Amino acid sequence: MNNNRPNTLYLVVPCYNEEEALPHSAQVMREKLNRLMQEGKASPESKILLVNDGSRDKTWQLIHGLCDTDPTFAGLSFSRNYGHQSAILAGMMAARQHADIAVTIDADLQQDIEALDQFLEKYQAGCEIVYGIRNDRNADGFFKKLTANGFYGLMHLLGCNVMSNHADYRLLSKKALDALSEYKEVNLFLRGLIPTMGFPSDVVYFDVKEREAGTSKYTLRKMMNLATDGITSMSTRPIQLISMLGFAVSVFSVIMIIYCIAEWAMGRNVPGYTTTLVVSLLMGGLTIFSLGIVGEYVGKIYLEAKARPRYIVESFIWKEGNCENFEREKQRK
Ligand code: UDP
Ligand code: MG
Repeated sequence: MNNNRPNTLYLVVPCYNEEEALPHSAQVMREKLNRLMQEGKASPESKILLVNDGSRDKTWQLIHGLCDTDPTFAGLSFSRNYGHQSAILAGMMAARQHADIAVTIDADLQQDIEALDQFLEKYQAGCEIVYGIRNDRNADGFFKKLTANGFYGLMHLLGCNVMSNHADYRLLSKKALDALSEYKEVNLFLRGLIPTMGFPSDVVYFDVKEREAGTSKYTLRKMMNLATDGITSMSTRPIQLISMLGFAVSVFSVIMIIYCIAEWAMGRNVPGYTTTLVVSLLMGGLTIFSLGIVGEYVGKIYLEAKARPRYIVESFIWKEGNCENFEREKQRK
């Protein structure tokens, strides 16, 4: 933090098939950044970094157009869809080179952009990380509410240190971005990972709005993947629970064996077919379920061991400061 000049702020915006939302969102973000610059809260070198996460629509063309007409916009494009978490990580890592602060915000303007002032105030007060927490879930449908509440409940049950109702609207200082760059894990769950880094931090509460345009890009499959990534990257409690379950079943089976032998010794027949069927189905189910959970962890270890790149940047557009004619475009294979 430097008190003599305004800080360079980078807004990092992940975009996946956002052609409907982007034109308006980009304009609103630009106006907000302008105001922050005029008020001396953000330096003129501040930028809006739009990360194209392998969109199949015109998102990248739109980003290209914005960067061509206004050097305040920068663009980064992936070679394919790597997912929201990778998109914001790539944006933050690119911002780290130039920015004092990076704020990640969704492209659909559901997260109240006016809360940015409070984020910056907390940063000025000495926070290295500021978490945006949504006030309520009224803008969400019934299903989204149910799955989100279920997910946070499960995470807390499993002992994970995640903040309820914190999505990825978040400020990170240069120091925090540098620390984040040291984490090389492929199994990425930023909203669980970042709080483990420590640093002075605070929260900002904001209202969630309806999506301005387009539809949610988080399909059920993406949500399920994020949830399993979250659990497997933050906790090994499920494996401990399986051990405890195995122990409980073993104790129960010893009791049942003693009971059956006693019944047999007293000349009584233990009723057979139904009990056998129920027990074998139950045990089969529990075994496969437990194997599946262990398998999830093995799969994650496999991915971590291969350590493939978390994303591949195909194009990067970035114009120096406010200078009109300077353009740098990197092409990486
Ligand atoms: N997003 C992304 N890659 C994906 C899915 C989503 O970059 O694979 C972006 C999307 O463009 C948006 C943000 O992540 O900026 C949040 O997605 P969305 O608004 O669709 O999720 P929701 O608000 O419905 O949870
Ligand atoms: Mg959204």
